[in-house]
Amino acid sequence: MHHFRYVGPNLHCESVDLAAVASLHGTPTYVYSAATMADNYARLQRGLAGLDLQVCYAMKANSNLAVVRHFANLGAGFDLVSGGEIRRVIAAGADVKRSVFAGVGKSEAEIALALENGIFAFHVESEPELKRLSHVAGRLGLKAPVAIRVNPDVDAHTHAKITTGKSDNKFGIPLAAAAAAYEAAARYPHLELKGVQMHIGSQLTSAAPFVEAVRKVAPFVAELKARHGIQYFSIGGGMGIVYRDALASGQAAWWDAQPADQRPLTPEAYGAALTPLLQPLGLTILLEHGRFMVGNAGVLLTRVEHLKRGAGKNFLVVDAAMNDLVRPAMYESYHEIVPLHRDTSRRALVADIVGPICESGDCFAKDRQIQELGEGEFLALMSAGAYGYTMASRYNTRALPAEVMVHGSSFDLVNARETFEQMTAQERIPAFLR
Ligand SMILES: *Cc1c(COP(=O)(O)O)cnc(C)c1O
Repeated sequence: MHHFRYVGPNLHCESVDLAAVASLHGTPTYVYSAATMADNYARLQRGLAGLDLQVCYAMKANSNLAVVRHFANLGAGFDLVSGGEIRRVIAAGADVKRSVFAGVGKSEAEIALALENGIFAFHVESEPELKRLSHVAGRLGLKAPVAIRVNPDVDAHTHAKITTGKSDNKFGIPLAAAAAAYEAAARYPHLELKGVQMHIGSQLTSAAPFVEAVRKVAPFVAELKARHGIQYFSIGGGMGIVYRDALASGQAAWWDAQPADQRPLTPEAYGAALTPLLQPLGLTILLEHGRFMVGNAGVLLTRVEHLKRGAGKNFLVVDAAMNDLVRPAMYESYHEIVPLHRDTSRRALVADIVGPICESGDCFAKDRQIQELGEGEFLALMSAGAYGYTMASRYNTRALPAEVMVHGSSFDLVNARETFEQMTAQERIPAFLR
């Protein structure tokens, strides 16, 4: 469920007409719904209500300072993957003490920054990392709280680039080797064993792989609790969202109309499947969802540059491109695309919806049916709140887009569009070229 819907012919986010945002701040611009993020957070909390829960929002999905502050105000901690993200938590006025630090290659400087700011735990991916953590913690006269990431070897049935829980990828330590890793960790003087972690992949649309992974790992978790007194079990993130019927899925009626065996995963179904498996462990349960928290809470607004009619093929050229939203080019992912002003009296058009970048991969949709549109009209790419802005680049010397947050009937610019001067501020022409 989300807060994007047509009011009359005009697409709104909460009570804001999105055309007003596009007119005031230009395009391409990301727009986020504060209410949708709050709803997603509340549904996750309710879905697993029987547990002692700590939600650590995976901010790599969307790390805008306003988004971070919003989740902090709701009570969330954060799942962090870099020193930059640690600094974002601090800059947003949120607390690092409720946050965990993940990733396969944490540098010594990043580890020190996390320790100095009282990180809740490090999620460790290898034995060499244990050594490094103990070394840095010892130097600072501290103990590093750790949880080891175990790889349960479960197929998440998702896109190859975002599956992480199979034994043949770089993440975590195989379950069979994990007990030895904990024994090794226990011998380091400056480590404190605090939990256990897993994360099997992203954009999962069924509870089954989560259930399989928890079933596989739970006996080991119980053993760790008995032997090392661990306090928490992080089951990672990965809950998927609706991309194909993105707009319709904002309404409860759409969910009610889905046959039970085809209904995409909801936090309620996820909670119902997992709570009975997790409750007997008697541990704090950490969740690290990113995409679910923000994915359906954001859209990317863009403007039509041209309708280029070709022999057998039409191209709708828009002012957003793969540098603004890379998911279609990188993961072949689908985004629903809708006009901000809907006019049912117009003819339908079938077109490829493309950006202006000189790459055939710069294509948001192939042979997409949409109402006929002309230059200057606005479109929204739905479900763009996760892995949108955070994966944006400056390819083709295109400035990073603007970001806006809607709250009820008001909206705020939460990141101004980058200027050319900002883009090139660090570049220098060396003396030998002058
Ligand atoms: C990326 C990541 C997440 C969040 O994944 P989503 O699919 O966005 O929920 C959580 N935990 C870890 C360790 C990750 O790498």
